[in-house]
Amino acid sequence: MAQHQFQTEVSQLLHLIIHSLYSNREIFLRELVSNASDALDKLKYLTVADEAYKTLSFDPRIDISFDKEAKTLTIKDNGIGMNEKDLEESLGTIARSGTKAFLEKLSADAKKDSNLIGQFGVGFYSAFMAAERIEVISRKAGEEESWKWSSEGKEGYDIEKTGPEAALPAQGTTVVLHLSEEGLEYANRWSVEDIIKRYSNHVAFPIYLTYDEKEYDDKGKEKGSKTKTDRINSGQALWRRSKSELKEEDYTEFYKSLSSQFGSDTEPPLHYVHTRAEGTLEYSTLFYIPSKAPFDMYNVDYKPGVKLYVKRVYITDDDKELMPTWLRFVKGVIDSEDLPLNVSREILQQNKILLNIKNASVKKLLSEIKAMADAAGNSEDNKKKWETFVREFNRPLKEGLYQDYANREQIQELVRFKSTAVEGWTSFADYVSRMKDDQKNIYYITGGDENTLRASPLLEAYKARDIEVLIMDDEIDDLVIPSLHSYRKESPAEDGKKENKSWELKAVNRAGADEELGEKQNKQAEKEAKPVIEKIKKALGDRVKDVKLSRRLHDSPSCIVADENDPSIQMAQMLKAMGQTGMPDVKPILEVNGEHPIVAGLKDTGDEEKIADVAGVLLDQALLVEGIKLKDPADFVKRLNRLLSAG
Ligand code: ADP
Ligand code: MG
Repeated sequence: MAQHQFQTEVSQLLHLIIHSLYSNREIFLRELVSNASDALDKLKYLTVADEAYKTLSFDPRIDISFDKEAKTLTIKDNGIGMNEKDLEESLGTIARSGTKAFLEKLSADAKKDSNLIGQFGVGFYSAFMAAERIEVISRKAGEEESWKWSSEGKEGYDIEKTGPEAALPAQGTTVVLHLSEEGLEYANRWSVEDIIKRYSNHVAFPIYLTYDEKEYDDKGKEKGSKTKTDRINSGQALWRRSKSELKEEDYTEFYKSLSSQFGSDTEPPLHYVHTRAEGTLEYSTLFYIPSKAPFDMYNVDYKPGVKLYVKRVYITDDDKELMPTWLRFVKGVIDSEDLPLNVSREILQQNKILLNIKNASVKKLLSEIKAMADAAGNSEDNKKKWETFVREFNRPLKEGLYQDYANREQIQELVRFKSTAVEGWTSFADYVSRMKDDQKNIYYITGGDENTLRASPLLEAYKARDIEVLIMDDEIDDLVIPSLHSYRKESPAEDGKKENKSWELKAVNRAGADEELGEKQNKQAEKEAKPVIEKIKKALGDRVKDVKLSRRLHDSPSCIVADENDPSIQMAQMLKAMGQTGMPDVKPILEVNGEHPIVAGLKDTGDEEKIADVAGVLLDQALLVEGIKLKDPADFVKRLNRLLSAG
């Protein structure tokens, strides 16, 4: 028997694993199964690539068994195996550069290290979290001798040639864990099955579990037990199969299994997209767009929908970095060939490979959504599909407008709005195509529900001049659209070259959005209205920021607008309701219609009480139509009644 010392780094790593990784102990099984799967892959490759192995009959499998009395858990594969030298190199040193780099990064701060290591896949040595002694018995494919490596995971390990009685009948590796007190729970059928299903369900080779099942006689008395062997992984990694061999039902089935893990949807998905990239980066992705928004879509701590696999081995389903937040409704799988299995969360976040996969995935999803939109006109079904998408996901998409600068132009084409010109949804592009040649801006109205907005007196002049206004009744519009400033679009110019056109986005409930509503204000009218304006201004005092003669009113006597750089009043109220403190009081600008009899009627009166009543009612009714709660409704009613009874 030869005794060996561990390489210094191995001792360090073992120390950390045993003392800090216990909170996530179960991952050791994932690591051992992934090693077994790698070993099977390697041998499988040889049987096709190497003449010497072509005659080998090889039925790849992984077998797990346990013995409660002997306190052992055994993981066995018939893969490539290891000889003496392999054992020394693989299980006595750390060859992987990632692990080395990780160890170098470790600071003396033990607490921080334990955090770090908890998020780090640690390979074979993690088995010492559950075992006080490990034996690895292995025979390399094509060799006669078999070897036994054993260690308690402290200073070193022993290697010996195993006698004929222990020699393996064929190539492969058997890892026997002599379970520690803490590891005993894994000598159990249900916990093994559970862990394998969670982490290794899609490993390509069959994983079998052997266990004893008690048998009972007619009277329910135990009469002995029977040994059974069940396959416990599905082995199917749908996303790794080629599209041509998959049917719609296969995708739907898989979606159901996926979404049951995410806790909800049993409806078939609205859409799916399956991609396989080969080239500099090798990976597969399978993404689903659900037909209903996930119930937690608007929770800060929503459950991310995308799972990360590395070579079919499950890594995480809890990483919000895998998709941008505005695509958080997407469910599915990313499986990379190039990422290391031992990848920590910190590493994931800065990982270039993953970043590339993510960027490509976002582009792919955007083009799929665009295709869905473009196809909406082709059939009734496609139309319904697109409408469902808009109903469920228009809002998160809008978040993308201010979160994802790089993709803003594409997202701009996908968001939809209601409008004064058409029924249903419309896009910026459609708005622009309906616009008269000389219109310079895109107009929209925000703040309130659809009915309130449609009834707003602010729209009157636009209606009269046949200018379309987008009705933005989504709370988020108030945040997103102003940050957009303008809509840009490439359009073919007359000389055949492409031309970048741009339209400013203007809120009609803001000062400054009325410049297109005709001639500069008629000087004469302004002069005539001045005394009335002054009277109203004086009566309202500091309830308003200003009082102006309006260019946008036709039938209504008054309306309110926000100053160009102020938040709208609705927005200010919303923020207050959400608990935002320290908001300055936003005061509206009151605009009045000089031709309206109520306003014109003030021209010849000096009755201060009447002026105060009319001014108050003009302001309060303008606030009311915008859906704003009055601070003093009783005062409004009192003034109104006084005016009515005065005739
Ligand atoms: P990694 O799998 O990332 O290389 P591990 O610590 O899990 O790191 O394993 C170290 C090495 O031990 C593997 O690279 C492999 O060469 C060898 N090894 C472990 N388990 C087996 C096995 N069941 N069959 C063959 N080789 C194995
Ligand atoms: Mg490994």
